[in-house]
Amino acid sequence: MNKPKLLLHICCAPDATVVFERLIPNYNLTGYFYNPNIHPREEYEKRLKEMQALASKLSLPLLVGKYDDHRWFNLTRGYENEEEGGKRCPICFTLRLRETARSAKEGGMDFFATVLTVSPHKDAALINTIGRSISEELSIPFLEADFKKKDGFKRSVELSQKFGLYRQNYCGCEYSRRK
Ligand code: SF4
Repeated sequence: MNKPKLLLHICCAPDATVVFERLIPNYNLTGYFYNPNIHPREEYEKRLKEMQALASKLSLPLLVGKYDDHRWFNLTRGYENEEEGGKRCPICFTLRLRETARSAKEGGMDFFATVLTVSPHKDAALINTIGRSISEELSIPFLEADFKKKDGFKRSVELSQKFGLYRQNYCGCEYSRRK
C-alpha cells in the first residue's frame, strides 16, 4: 500500500513520540523542525539535537527549517506581556504552520500536520482552525487532530522516559520562559 506523504511539524522530541506512534501505521512521515520561537539559541539547539537523535533512532527523515528568530520577534512585537494561551500564541502557531504547509507543498507532500496539540496547554480547536485556513490559502490538505485525546500526553511522557528524552519546562519563547 502506498501511504500518503505527510510533513509533520515538530516542536520537540517528547511531543513527537506519541504522534509518531499514532501516524506511522497510516502515513509516510517526514518530520519538520521549524521553531524560531524557541529562546535562547542554546535551548533551541538542545531541543533540535534531541529531535535529531530520536529521528535517527526511529529511522525517520527530519527536515530542519531556518532559525529566523528575528522574524518571530517582529511578528509578536506588542504581545510580550500576554500569558501563554493569549494573543501571542495564534501568531506563533500561524507562522510555524504556514511555513510547514509551504515546505510540504514544495516537497510534494499530500498533507501537513503538527504535534502541537499533544500539550495540555494547547488549544486544539484553535490550532485546527489555523491549520484549516492555511490549508485553503496554500491548497494543501491539513490533518486535523487533537493528539492529547486518548491519554496522548500521558503516553508521550511514557515514551519520552523510554527513550530517555529531555523535556523542557517552558513552552519555548522568551516570554513563556520568564513566567
Ligand atoms: S507561549 Fe509558546 S505558543 Fe505561545 S508564543 Fe510563546 S512559544 Fe509560542
